[in-house]
Amino acid sequence: MKIQNRIALIFTILTAAIIVSFSVFIFTFSRKNIENSFFHRLEVRSDIIAHASLDANKSRESIYYDFKEKHLEDLPNEEHFLIGAGEVLKANDLRSQLPLPSSFYNNIIRKEPARYMANDTSYVGLNIADNGKHVIIVSRAVDLYGLEELDNLKNLLMIGFLIAMIFVFTFGKLFSFQIFNPIRQIIRNVKGISAHNLHQRLVVDSAQDEIGDLSNTFNDMLNRLEITFDMQNNFVSNASHEFRTPLTVISGEAELGLSVPGISGEIKESFQMILRESEKLEHLTSSMLSLAQTGFDGTKEQWEKIRIDELILSVKSAIDHIHPENEVRIDFNGLPADESKLELNGNETLLKAAFTNIVLNSCKYSDNKAVVVRIGFEINNIVIEVTDRGIGIPDKEIGQIFVPFFRASNTIKYKGYGIGLPLANNIIKMHHGSISVRSTVGEGTRFVIFLPPYVH
Ligand code: ADP
Repeated sequence: MKIQNRIALIFTILTAAIIVSFSVFIFTFSRKNIENSFFHRLEVRSDIIAHASLDANKSRESIYYDFKEKHLEDLPNEEHFLIGAGEVLKANDLRSQLPLPSSFYNNIIRKEPARYMANDTSYVGLNIADNGKHVIIVSRAVDLYGLEELDNLKNLLMIGFLIAMIFVFTFGKLFSFQIFNPIRQIIRNVKGISAHNLHQRLVVDSAQDEIGDLSNTFNDMLNRLEITFDMQNNFVSNASHEFRTPLTVISGEAELGLSVPGISGEIKESFQMILRESEKLEHLTSSMLSLAQTGFDGTKEQWEKIRIDELILSVKSAIDHIHPENEVRIDFNGLPADESKLELNGNETLLKAAFTNIVLNSCKYSDNKAVVVRIGFEINNIVIEVTDRGIGIPDKEIGQIFVPFFRASNTIKYKGYGIGLPLANNIIKMHHGSISVRSTVGEGTRFVIFLPPYVH
C-alpha cells in the first residue's frame, strides 16, 4: 500500500477511535442523566402516594385512587405497591412478585434510596414514616420518552459518525496527496536524470523544510556523481588521445621501414605485423574515445534532422567499402506511407557508427552469410531490425553483451574488443531509443532498435 493511502487510513482510524470514544461518553452520560431524572420523578410520585396513604381520615385505597385521578397523569406501565406496618405477608408476596436484588430491599429497610433498573423498567423503593404510622412503597414505570430520547441520540451519533468518517477519509486522502506532491515531483525529476543528462538538478523550494533538505541531498549526490563521471570520462579521453600520437608514429615508422628497398622477407613481415597491430590499437583507442564521449553528455554533439532510410543506406555503402563480399540486404517493405515518420532528431555520425557496428557484427559473426536490415514504424517509433544467421549468443551471456569489453565465449576465432555494442547502446540511449536482442546459438541473432521519430 502506498504511504499516501496508509496515512489517510491511519488518520481515519485514529479519528474514528476518538469520535467513537467521545460518542460512547456522551451516550453513557446522557443515559445516566435521563435514568436519574426519571428515578427522581418516580420517587416524587411514590412519596406523594405514600404520604396520601398515611392520611388518617380516609381509607388507603380511596386516597390513592382519588389522588391519582385528580393530580397525576399516569407514567407508562406505572404501578405502585404499598405495604403498611406489620403486613409481613404482603411484603413476602411483593418479594416473590418483584424479584429485585436483595440489596434493593435492604436499602428500603435501612431507609436509604433504593433504585433499580431492569428491562427498561425503573424501580424505586421508599420507607416513609408520618404521624406515627409507617409505610413502604415500591413503584415501577417505564421511561418511554427517555428511551426514545436515547434512541434518537444513538441514531444521531451513528449518522454523525458515518458523515464524519466520509469527510475525514476524503480530507485525509486530499491532505496526504497534498503532502506527497513535492515527493512525487522529486521522483519525477530524479527519474528524468540519467548518465546522459547528469548535469540536471532538482528544483529546490525556498522553504527550509525536509523536502528542501531531500532535494539538496540529491543534488549534492548528483554533484559528486557528475564529478566522478567527469573524471572517469576525462581519464579515458585523455588516455585515448595520449595513445594516438605514439601509435601514429609507430605505424609511420613501420611504413617507412616497409618502403626501404631490398629488405629481407623476415624484416618485411615484422614491419607488416607492427603496422597491423598498431592499426588495431588505433582503432581500439578511437572506439574508446567515442565510448567515453557518448557515455556522458549528448549535448556535446551536433544534432539535426536525419532520415533513417538514408542513414541505413549510407551504413550499407560503408560496409560495402570495408567488406565488398557482404550479403547485407535492406528490407524496405515495412516503410510507413508517411515519409515524415522516417525522420528523427539525432547525430548522424554517431548513429551511423552505431548501426555500422551492429551490422558489421552480424556479418562478422555469420561469416558473411545473409544479413537483413528491416526498416519499419511501430507503436509510434522507428524500428530497425538487424537479423543474421550466424553463431548466435549463448543464453547465459546475452545479458552482458552491452558491458564494455565483454565478449561471448563462442567468439574466440573472431577478432574484436567488446566495445562496438556498448558504444551502439550508448548512442541509441542518447537518442532516447532502446535496443534489444534475441539470439539462438547456431541459428542466428536479431537486434531490434526503437528510435523516437522527429516531432514536427
Ligand atoms: P566485438 O568487438 O567482440 O564484436 P561488440 O561490443 O561489438 O564486440 O560485441 C560484444 C559481443 O556481443 C561480441 O563479442 C559477441 O559475443 C556478441 N555479439 C554481438 N553481435 C553479435 C552477433 N550478431 N552474433 C553473435 N554474437 C554477437
